Amino acid sequence: MKVSFKRMIGQEQVKKLLSRALENGQLSHGYLFEGPEGLGKRKMAKELAAAIFCSQEDAPCGSCNACRQVEAETHAEFRWIRSSEEGKEPTVSVDMIRNLVKDIYLKPYETDYKIYVIPEADTMTPQAQNALLKTLEEPPDHSVIILVTPEPERLLPTILSRCQRLVFRPVKKEVLETYLQEEKQMTPDKAKTLAAFANGIPERAVEMLENETYQQEYKDFLQLTDSIMEKNYGLAIEKGEFMQQKKNQAMWALAFWQEWLRDLHIILMGGSTDLLVHQNQESRLRKQAAFFNENTIQTAQKLMESAREDIRTHGNLSFIVETLLINLVKLVKDPSQADQLDGFLDS
Ligand SMILES: [Zn+2]
Repeated sequence: MKVSFKRMIGQEQVKKLLSRALENGQLSHGYLFEGPEGLGKRKMAKELAAAIFCSQEDAPCGSCNACRQVEAETHAEFRWIRSSEEGKEPTVSVDMIRNLVKDIYLKPYETDYKIYVIPEADTMTPQAQNALLKTLEEPPDHSVIILVTPEPERLLPTILSRCQRLVFRPVKKEVLETYLQEEKQMTPDKAKTLAAFANGIPERAVEMLENETYQQEYKDFLQLTDSIMEKNYGLAIEKGEFMQQKKNQAMWALAFWQEWLRDLHIILMGGSTDLLVHQNQESRLRKQAAFFNENTIQTAQKLMESAREDIRTHGNLSFIVETLLINLVKLVKDPSQADQLDGFLDS
């Protein structure tokens, strides 16, 4: 059997390690896929499962029965354990893990392995994590458990130490550029712009290309940045409404903001435009950079980080977003506010 993960962009180290383990029959019983969102961690979990079950010599082929069943999450020995959305927060409960544990010790029917993926492992409750621990310590020979998370620090140290940890990293701009040209038939110019914009996150480039909502959100984001420079609180809050809809959306928007501020900083420092993530917005960036100085940019970055942290720890989304936008307007209106806000953020 020869294993290659051709459909995954980048992540060469992860691919090498997993294909070698599979070819040599040395798979671990527990894996942790960690790293920022949008790099294909969940896709890799499916590709690995498909490679394990694939009937072809060159695996995963993507078209045999087994490969297709894994993709559709209908394969009998492949379990994709989604967080339940019933409570306030998505959660993997202790009962869900108890079911997994009950099931995992039963031998597979027709395959050598049973594979379990927990795609949002950080939503496991502490009790659920404890329930999983014993299985990770004494896994049956036929089992592979894959935990996926951008926030491994939310898992118990005892869980972390029992998994083989594979870190997913942002993809090189050139790799993404080639991918967009070859697989998405983009012109070199367009591929270059989009690769810069995706900032190492392939799913972002693909979403931007294929998803109209996403394109609209980007437009909304750009309008929001303009509205801040108008120094009008009401307008900023109105334009920032899209950030208050969902936690995910707010997190994406905050990531945009952080890059946007970094781009503004590059312009303020007279850096090369090649370094900009939002190269296609250069003239807008130049206009807006006039409203900032080095001090206020840094404070604005701190505001973003603090908002991210507040959202992560489940504060009130509308309140967090509105406070953020008000503080941004304050900063632009009166740069001397920076010190006061800094003091507040550091306390
Ligand atoms: Zn196959």
